[in-house]
Amino acid sequence: MGKLDGKVALISGGARGQGAVEAAVFAREGAKVVFGDVRDDEGRKVEAAIRAEGGHAVYLHLDVASEADWQRAVHTAVERYGRLDVLVNNAGVVGSRAEVLETGPAELLACYATNVFGPVRVTRAFVPLLRRSANPRVVMVSSGLGSFAVTTDPSRIESRIVALGYPSSKSALNMITTQYAKALPEFRVNVVDPGYTATDLNGHSGPQTVEQGTDAIVELATIGPDGPTGGYFDRTGPLAW
Ligand code: NAD
Repeated sequence: MGKLDGKVALISGGARGQGAVEAAVFAREGAKVVFGDVRDDEGRKVEAAIRAEGGHAVYLHLDVASEADWQRAVHTAVERYGRLDVLVNNAGVVGSRAEVLETGPAELLACYATNVFGPVRVTRAFVPLLRRSANPRVVMVSSGLGSFAVTTDPSRIESRIVALGYPSSKSALNMITTQYAKALPEFRVNVVDPGYTATDLNGHSGPQTVEQGTDAIVELATIGPDGPTGGYFDRTGPLAW
């Protein structure tokens, strides 16, 4: 028996990288997986691969920065399933690689549109459907770069990154997570640092495999109603804010 048998899960940014692995793992665990991205050709290939394994997957074109796309996704989920059990806000971009002093509001806005406003847009849109679940779970995909503790610890590789956009977008996402957890006490809302993982996001420089990167995400997507909420985790356990 799978950990997500009969559950309906929605993943943003599922056409490649960690999101694609999350979609495949959730389907193997028995979930009906709806996943969206802006890379339609890749998304459809992931959908076909999951279906070839006997899994249930539906790919949709979903830009988290587009209100219209998400309204359409909600409509699809309502029509097909009538509820949502698991939402993973996984889509993310590095954004501008400009130096700190070269980074202005326009560069920040481009990064925040996906990493901050995206999860807010998507979560708000799906709360009514999540309320129809017996055990609604929301997983936000952040980064160690969003942690003040990690980025000020000289023993951590994240402390050597000096940038305004991506790290501050993930710090904002961390705070947004704890506020949603307080506003939705009947939900389990948690945020994850996948760890430094080999994906296109970092030119495949990360030492972890994508499967290792998704460990904590899968764990929090499958917790029971007595599991944690408002927490920040990596694959080894709780992470300092
Ligand atoms: P990736 O680049 O392989 O995948 C990101 C996916 O998000 C892509 O398929 C991309 O098309 C999609 N995406 C980007 N903008 C989008 C939008 N506006 N709407 C919908 N989809 C969009 O990177 P990844 O490493 O798999 O990243 C997944 C998440 O993990 C991100 O939130 C990232 O910030 C986070 N993360 C990654 C690492 C790492 O080392 N790879 C570390 C910490 C956190």
